Amino acid sequence: MGVLDIVPAGVLTGDNVRKLFDYAKENKFAIPAINVTSSSTANAVLEAARDIKSPIIIQVSQGGSAYFAGKGLANDKQQASIAGAVAAALHVRAVAKEYGVPVILHSDHCAHKLLPWFDGMLAADEAYFKAHQEPLFSSHMLDLSEEPKEQNIATCVEYFKRMAPIGLWLEMEIGITGGEEDGVDNTGVDNSKLYTQPEDIWEVYDGLSKVGPNFSIAAAFGNVHGVYKPGNVKLHPELLGKHQALASEKLGGKEKPLYLVFHGGSGSTKQEIQTAVGFGVVKMNVDTDTQFAYLAGIRDFVLKKKEYLLTQVGNPDGADKPNKKYYDPRVWVREGEKTLVTRVKEACTDLGNVNRL
Ligand SMILES: [Zn+2]
Repeated sequence: MGVLDIVPAGVLTGDNVRKLFDYAKENKFAIPAINVTSSSTANAVLEAARDIKSPIIIQVSQGGSAYFAGKGLANDKQQASIAGAVAAALHVRAVAKEYGVPVILHSDHCAHKLLPWFDGMLAADEAYFKAHQEPLFSSHMLDLSEEPKEQNIATCVEYFKRMAPIGLWLEMEIGITGGEEDGVDNTGVDNSKLYTQPEDIWEVYDGLSKVGPNFSIAAAFGNVHGVYKPGNVKLHPELLGKHQALASEKLGGKEKPLYLVFHGGSGSTKQEIQTAVGFGVVKMNVDTDTQFAYLAGIRDFVLKKKEYLLTQVGNPDGADKPNKKYYDPRVWVREGEKTLVTRVKEACTDLGNVNRL
């Protein structure tokens, strides 16, 4: 039995998201969540998933959403981020079925000051629900990890009360992912905050489970966004096992009741990833490494074909030879898509997410 026996191809919502995560947990694999910033990157992610017959998670950050709408737009009220997130979602919805893979459509970190972005996406979900009986997105992340714990949980519960009835999954963060990503700088954060404790996780579970079952927790276990030289922060994926054990005990022995999310996984060892997946990580975010991969193909093409790219006519083959077939964006952007496809496949392989349909 494979994933397509459980959920359909295309964008998943409601209980189908949980069914996919349950299947992943039972079969000890996780699904990478790749940040996209354009239709080009989104298509490459879908292409990779199709080639290796796997479900996939496509996500947009607040900055990535604004980029999707166009860097020339003002974003003082998050209007570009809202429009771009909606555009990305509609694009993925329009093409996902053609690729034949199940897709979870997700939005990444939303800190307190970015809540207008979240509110805008939620309004779009509610409007979509009215017309189609399902939300536009599959899930959203609320990251209020910088707030005091009680406030973080209470705000998540309030939003979840609005999300659960229309079939939206909630991912929340407790503890802090270190490093810097998309303008959020946590490089100076206190080390203890980088390791969430099992009691905190239980408080989150206790609060959210009263509203509905469709939520996941990004618990910090020393994760850092970006790729840096090894520092004094160490990954402790075994902490995730302690979270599951406490929740299991409180729930009368239910095995691995938590859905866990791995942030800041760039540069992690295969062993750390496998340990985390064994403890119920169902989603791992990948951004830094895929950004670099997208550049690689374009960079190599430009360096290799430089003499064909300096003028519209004239190259080493002759002064009158046209260069259109080199500078057409479908040629050089495509090279970046190819190297991105390869890197997404690698992320899937690391997580055991291959041949799962
Ligand atoms: Zn993250």
